[in-house]
Amino acid sequence: MGKRQTLFADILLPLPVKGCFTYRIPLDLNEQITTGQRVVVPFGRNKVYAGLVKRIHESPPKDFQARYVQSVLDTLPVVTGKQFAFWEWMSAYYLCTEGEVMGAALPPAMKLAGETRIALNPSASSRPATPNEMEQLLLDALKTKKQMTLSEAATSVSIPKVLPLVKNMIEKGWVVLKEDLENPWRPKVVRHIRLAEPFRDEKKLRDVFDQCEKQAPRQLEVLMKYIQLAEPLGKQPKEVSQQEVTSAVKGGLPALQSLVKKGVFETWEKEKSYFDHSHASGKDVVLNEHQQKALQSIKEGFKKHNVVLLHGVTSSGKTELYIKLIRETIAAGKQVLYLLPEIALTTQIINRLQQQFGNRAGIYHSRFNPVERTEVWNNLVQGGILSGNEKIRYDLVLGPRSALFLPFQSLGLIIVDEEHETGFKQHDPAPRYHARDAAIYLASLFGAKTLLGSATPSLETYYNTRHGKYGYARIDARHGGSTMPQILVSDLRKETRSKAMKSHFSPLLFESIKKALEEKEQVILFQNRRGFSPRLECDICSWLPECHQCDVTLVYHKQNNKLRCHYCGYNIPPPAECPSCTSSALKMKGFGTEKIEEELPLFFPGATIARMDTDTTRSKNAYRHLIDDFEKRRTDILVGTQMISKGLDFSNVGVVGILNADNMLNFPDFRAHERAFQLMAQVSGRAGRSRKQGRVIIQSYHPRHPIIQYVISNDYEEMYRQQIGERRQFHYPPYTRLVKVTAMHSDTDLLNDAASVLTGQIRKAFPGKVLGPEYPVIARIRNQYIKNTLIKFDRSLRLAKEKQLLLDIARDFQKERQWKPIRIIFNTDPL
Ligand code: ADP
Ligand code: ZN
Ligand code: ZN
Repeated sequence: MGKRQTLFADILLPLPVKGCFTYRIPLDLNEQITTGQRVVVPFGRNKVYAGLVKRIHESPPKDFQARYVQSVLDTLPVVTGKQFAFWEWMSAYYLCTEGEVMGAALPPAMKLAGETRIALNPSASSRPATPNEMEQLLLDALKTKKQMTLSEAATSVSIPKVLPLVKNMIEKGWVVLKEDLENPWRPKVVRHIRLAEPFRDEKKLRDVFDQCEKQAPRQLEVLMKYIQLAEPLGKQPKEVSQQEVTSAVKGGLPALQSLVKKGVFETWEKEKSYFDHSHASGKDVVLNEHQQKALQSIKEGFKKHNVVLLHGVTSSGKTELYIKLIRETIAAGKQVLYLLPEIALTTQIINRLQQQFGNRAGIYHSRFNPVERTEVWNNLVQGGILSGNEKIRYDLVLGPRSALFLPFQSLGLIIVDEEHETGFKQHDPAPRYHARDAAIYLASLFGAKTLLGSATPSLETYYNTRHGKYGYARIDARHGGSTMPQILVSDLRKETRSKAMKSHFSPLLFESIKKALEEKEQVILFQNRRGFSPRLECDICSWLPECHQCDVTLVYHKQNNKLRCHYCGYNIPPPAECPSCTSSALKMKGFGTEKIEEELPLFFPGATIARMDTDTTRSKNAYRHLIDDFEKRRTDILVGTQMISKGLDFSNVGVVGILNADNMLNFPDFRAHERAFQLMAQVSGRAGRSRKQGRVIIQSYHPRHPIIQYVISNDYEEMYRQQIGERRQFHYPPYTRLVKVTAMHSDTDLLNDAASVLTGQIRKAFPGKVLGPEYPVIARIRNQYIKNTLIKFDRSLRLAKEKQLLLDIARDFQKERQWKPIRIIFNTDPL
């Protein structure tokens, strides 16, 4: 495009507004601007945003005067055309704006706006480069003011182009976004050693050698090992970690410490990138016959289908199959995306894949710091990053649902492991997408394949294989011939009646744990509720403590002696007497993970006990430590919520106890039984992964419940047949497609009126397909009342027209003044 031509750019902004905004490109930027770059644009009266250039053209907007693009942030595009296409699909399918998708897609550090708050980076190591005048001004201002928005920075330091300036300073690690500060990240450091200054001399070194030779042979060995690794007298000494030396010499550590004391060595610390830029070292396993057959079926399946389900029992070696397929895809020059539910992204799987693929594997994790996340993004969008004189490209990316948004260049395969997991669905905020379904669309944009893996597939996915939409591969045998666990049920009704319960443990569970511990096996106890006790209740008047802004009872947490709301975090100390009848007969009812953890030592003295739930895994490393301790058998009994059901591979678990199956089965949701089956089967799968048969004990007041029976007989098919029958009968997915419309407001009367008017209009548009409006089980959260309307669309429809109509109805509805304050949310395929 010509230098002197007047050009316009359609800019996407990370906002819940429809479509793009057109801006005029200043002539002097004509040559710099391309699609996919971030540019700074004014918005509204006095806001600025970094937006994305989606299109460049010559047509001025018809009914308004276009404002100018202020500056260009990137020299190269940071978003690809495929990403724009993916975002368009997502916004249409999930009924949100492309700006909302953009907001979810970009890592925080790439989203700059006038209202973005920044602060000095507290962990800025050294500053290799010197700040220029403007940068120094801003650094000084931040030193006194601690934090400020970019707009404030622009005025207080009078910087005309603050966004580009700050963008550079973030990249240099001098400043950080405030939201990243709240999520502090400390780099992992590795201790290194080097010769102290006076000993970097051949003669001095020889003296030390002579001295050690006579008195300290270990120290001599350490010294020689170091010299061999570091070549310290050469032109370019190599960096050597303490561990490299001490692990090579028996008794190396004390010897090294003596040398440090003598002043021969000094230690220094080096930041370690989480991404271990090492080379692959994992061995290539030989697939067993079941795996080989399944691999064949997958490949056959991919000839006819874009999606294949790998249905393999727990511990059947699905991951090994993924590794083969990843290797083949990479060998063909294509990239692989491996999606896991957030909670299953443990070091176990990360290590396994990094051993196989070394620095070709990138990890994208919300618990990683912003610099690392931006690093993965940049690596992908630039097709690799120079490391030394080698260009390292991520051919494999491992991540949770948000990894779908990365700028892939040539995807060949997407693996969705544990595809049945509800953690793949984003609930809030928009886009409310399901990563499995979105992955299938993303793959289609690249002409790539999608492999779904699970031991307990979702009904939707299994239905699709039964109806010829997806291919199907199956593994029924565990690797290495370990048998499926023996599953037994304890009838809580009977045991309670005969007073045989030891607190929450039936005699069968109690004896099984005891025996396992005696045989030095480990135990996992599953309780689907965290906290000490789900509720405090008055024995006299049945009073229950409730959240003052949500319609839920508060849960007692013993650790900090608080009653807490699991929805909004509101918490109070437990009252000494009943606020309603003033009696002091307040009793703990029910039981959570914390309570179990506390009771165990009374019954099993001497056993080491740990607990894994959202309360104990808040910090970045807590989860890893819990897993590590259990893996290394430092923990005997692990108590946990569904977190413990996720893909963990422990070889020494003899007993798994499900303390109460009923609270999963009684949940009022059409998917409750499917989920209960999946959870119980997955938790059971943690048992007996080695040679010995494991044992699972399910405690229930309804031992004959069909779902429990399917778990016992490990009969997925029968569970499917029974459940799919109900889905057909009551018109639920996969026979229909659901869209949920939620209306919210703090005033119940207003909300009731609004919901019935809105639902009336929706019903008129889609007669016979609409349910509601209804209050959900929890009708109020953070003082907002909630009413849901459910639309059951025919499965055969593509729904593009219907969804547009739905959006139009909502928009017209909100044009009326009285309904303006109502918040309306759409959720396609709600879970
Ligand atoms: P899944 O993902 O189906 O639960 P994994 O892939 O984790 O199963 O396999 C379970 C265990 O068996 C792992 O420790 C894995 O390394 C091992 N394993 C699986 N297949 C093989 C094989 N063909 N050769 C050697 N070890 C295998
Ligand atoms: Zn009372
Ligand atoms: Zn609350």
